[in-house]
Amino acid sequence: MKEFLNFINGTYVGSASGRTFDNINPVDGSVIGKIHEAGKPEVDAAVAAAKAALQGEWGRLTVPERCTLLDALTIEINRRFDDFLQAEIADTGKPHALASHLDIPRGAANFQIFIDTIKSTSTESFNMRTGDGKTALSYAVRVPRGVIAVVCPWNLPLLLMTWKVGPALACGNTVVVKPSEETPATTTLLGEVMNKVGVPQGVYNVVHGFGPDSAGQFLTEHPDVDGITFTGETRTGTAIMKAAADGVRPVSMEMGGKNAAVVFADCDFDATVDTLVRACFENTGQVCLGTERVYVQRPLFDKLVAALKVRAETMTPGAPMDQATKIGPLISKEHQDKVLSFYKKAAAEGATVVTGGGVPDMPDALKGGFWIEPTIWTGLPETASVVTEEIFGPCCHIAPFDSEAEVLQKVNANRYGLATAVFTQDIGKANRMAHGIEVGLCWINTWFLRDLRTPFGGSKQSGIGREGGVHSFEFYTELRNVMVKF
Ligand code: NAD
Repeated sequence: MKEFLNFINGTYVGSASGRTFDNINPVDGSVIGKIHEAGKPEVDAAVAAAKAALQGEWGRLTVPERCTLLDALTIEINRRFDDFLQAEIADTGKPHALASHLDIPRGAANFQIFIDTIKSTSTESFNMRTGDGKTALSYAVRVPRGVIAVVCPWNLPLLLMTWKVGPALACGNTVVVKPSEETPATTTLLGEVMNKVGVPQGVYNVVHGFGPDSAGQFLTEHPDVDGITFTGETRTGTAIMKAAADGVRPVSMEMGGKNAAVVFADCDFDATVDTLVRACFENTGQVCLGTERVYVQRPLFDKLVAALKVRAETMTPGAPMDQATKIGPLISKEHQDKVLSFYKKAAAEGATVVTGGGVPDMPDALKGGFWIEPTIWTGLPETASVVTEEIFGPCCHIAPFDSEAEVLQKVNANRYGLATAVFTQDIGKANRMAHGIEVGLCWINTWFLRDLRTPFGGSKQSGIGREGGVHSFEFYTELRNVMVKF
């Protein structure tokens, strides 16, 4: 049985209330650990430590000195690769192949990219003549924003957390991280790495707990938090934005999606199917960028539905370390109930269930896990709930379309605007779509591919702001203008 403590001012601590909650293994539903829930006293202590660290040794470091520490962090994460891997797998039930190729390498890369970026980032300066014939120089400096609250989801715990902590620390801020209540492990483990490489106490803090009336709310409402970066559901983000309005704190919001794929009849069919299998089912559909709406040009519709059905049915569910496993469980019983409720709604709304629609039969040892079948529907109107609402499961609705204008209208008729993937060999058509679709990210003949220097974020109700490369610095720093007359 593992114990997950809060990490405050460089020390692992429980909570004054003594309250703990269970850490559940999604693979079999067993309790594998106890998480110490931070109350107000622990959140206050974490924020105070983060504030004090800004005034201390950390606040006096130069950019190259901070980068040396962050570089040591990436080396240490890679040295403890297996510890992070086991921790992430225990929390999420992800297949070993996925966690070892995506989650943990990106956890380390998220520090490296911001080291590289901040070392080569400059600000502007202008020379001018003053009215009395002297000279003036006007230049801008980037200063850290201060104490950053980092509120994270459970689907890519280490990856999404370091995506925020990396730039926050590169820019000289201090952080208080609230990982998801479902996935405390890698965020807690990172505290050991911070201490090992000599990141000063109070720079990185972790508070465990839930949202309302718990660590999430206490942290985001805290008056000494200078900025809030959040990844999670749009509804939660809306509540956090209201908290941020008190004290006029800036936010960076990466929120929900209902992403589409658009498949034109002239696409490279086999490559498109390969990509769609990943887009719809990878990480058991628990990827913010995942595809839940597939629009296929009519001549290709039947062929694509048939091909995707075959591939969905080869997604073998199983334990993370089993080489045959292609798909893991959902994160929790609560999430399984949510996804299954959409499966029921789809049937009730008249969907043709091409494949899936329920819970797979698992061996006895795994029966308590939160398993779900990859599911494909056709035949629903655009107003159906599984076509309009984010499910966050391994499922998609496939619909035919005839013209570019028609599919553009359908893709954009949704309150979210995170990502779309377009498949065609016509470069003009691809670019017309990319310009017309209301999203933050548009892929052409690919999915999930990204250079970490490019802007990442959502349009409409999928988010506010962009993170990635220099774009992250818009949130994690403030620009100060200095004018010198001489
Ligand atoms: P969630 O919104 O339920 O929880 C996210 C975090 O917010 C958790 O740590 C939770 O404890 C905390 N929280 C909840 N209520 C809070 C409150 N009132 N105040 C402060 N904190 C609060 O999201 P989830 O279920 O963990 O993650 C799935 C969602 O995340 C999906 O909607 C998915 O699309 C989204 N997501 C978006 C991106 C992106 O980059 N746009 C990436 C990954 C996931």
